[in-house]
Amino acid sequence: MRQRSDAPGEAVVGIDAQGAACSAAAPATQTRARDTVAGRFFRRAFGIFIIFAVLLTAVLIGETLWVAKENLKGELAIYQRTFEKSIAAALWSLDPEKLDSIVDGIVEIPDIEGVRIVDPHSGKVIAQAGAFVILGQGGPHPLAHRFDVIHEDGYGRELVGRAEFQSSLTQLMRRTQRQILLIVVLACLKTLAFWWIFRWVGRRLLGAPLTEIARAIRAAALPGRLQLSGSTEKAIADTELALLRDAYDSLAERTRQAQDDLARANAELDLRVRERTRELQEANRKLEELAHTDSLTGLANRREFLSAAEQAIGRARRGDRPLALIVCDIDKFKQVNDVHGHMVGDRVIRHVAEHLFNAVRHIDLVARLGGDEFVVLLPDIGLDEARVVAERIRDVLAASPLEIAAGVTVRASVSLGIAALEPEDERLEELFLRADRALYAAKAGGRNRAIDHSRLPDAP
Ligand code: GH3
Ligand code: MG
Repeated sequence: MRQRSDAPGEAVVGIDAQGAACSAAAPATQTRARDTVAGRFFRRAFGIFIIFAVLLTAVLIGETLWVAKENLKGELAIYQRTFEKSIAAALWSLDPEKLDSIVDGIVEIPDIEGVRIVDPHSGKVIAQAGAFVILGQGGPHPLAHRFDVIHEDGYGRELVGRAEFQSSLTQLMRRTQRQILLIVVLACLKTLAFWWIFRWVGRRLLGAPLTEIARAIRAAALPGRLQLSGSTEKAIADTELALLRDAYDSLAERTRQAQDDLARANAELDLRVRERTRELQEANRKLEELAHTDSLTGLANRREFLSAAEQAIGRARRGDRPLALIVCDIDKFKQVNDVHGHMVGDRVIRHVAEHLFNAVRHIDLVARLGGDEFVVLLPDIGLDEARVVAERIRDVLAASPLEIAAGVTVRASVSLGIAALEPEDERLEELFLRADRALYAAKAGGRNRAIDHSRLPDAP
């Protein structure tokens, strides 16, 4: 049996005449069936049917033979009535020639193969004709008719012989051969018809729908119902195959829902990841800021200053432009701490930082180096201008006392050391050292003043 799908690229799954599995042109992903349900069902059912068909045919043949045998024996009894009187007359008259001609005539009848007449008293054979068979065991011949030959006249009845008419299996077969042939032919026809019906029904109700369902499942897109042809829908209606199709549809629906759930969960996760990423970026930005910012004043810290100053020096060098640095320290700050406390000291540091920041340009960098010490880096500015800036800082601070309590003010002053970048300066240290020396001189000179390095006695 072979089953073929019409769809291009479709796997051909079926069984050949010997029941061997065969398939062709299957895609690489195709799972090949080594057998078909329809073929297997067909072989099992048909095998059982063959056994029953043979048994039933044998019973029919047996019945036919038995009926024919009974008919044959009945006909032998009719021949008794035909020949009984003439045999009795021949025996009574002791006329062997007549008797022989009678028995020779009897075996001419097609149904009778052999005739024998014996003496009823001695058992001696008086006459015999044809192929008379004597069975070995002495049992009765199955196709024989025996009868007593009685002579009857006006004086009475007398047993004059025993006669036996025998027929044969050949005769029986001759009579029944047509019927038996008919039975066998009909049985073969029934078997052929059954074979064809089983194969056709199996293909139509099982093979084709299963192949189409498998093909539809392979071609199915989610979501969606299995698309089956009208004939297949009809073939599987109200059967387990319809349940299978419904089960697939339900699975497809659940898979689609699971996909939706997964997509929703992914979207939520994506949102949360984005939020967390934003939070992390913000935290990183704050950390980065903290790493470069002085926490008390919000100004750049030492690290930021060192890095920015190196870059500024590089830019000044490349552009052959001036650069000035002011180092600034609050005067007698310890006293503020001692007199007003550390908290007020912090407020004074913030106060100075704020005024420093406001007194310079936005491109200038103001940083707190630590304690009460600040720096101001002034790009594109030479010593003279830096001196002006330093004086402005001093003036601003002088004009801005800090009120630390009602009626109590602190007037912070600063000493400032100024230096400008020199051509021979290789790094920040040289510039910073000069500014720091000038600061030292400002402190030594009485504080609250700005001194530039060029004014120092040992300046070049
Ligand atoms: P001078 O005029 O010579 O600078 O005298 P000074 O008292 O200011 O001496 P110096 O600059 O050496 O003293 C700095 C003091 O600043 C020492 C320390 O107790 C104080 N200090 C350092 N950091 C802080 C801070 O963050 N907050 C407060 N309140 N005080 C600080
Ligand atoms: Mg100080």
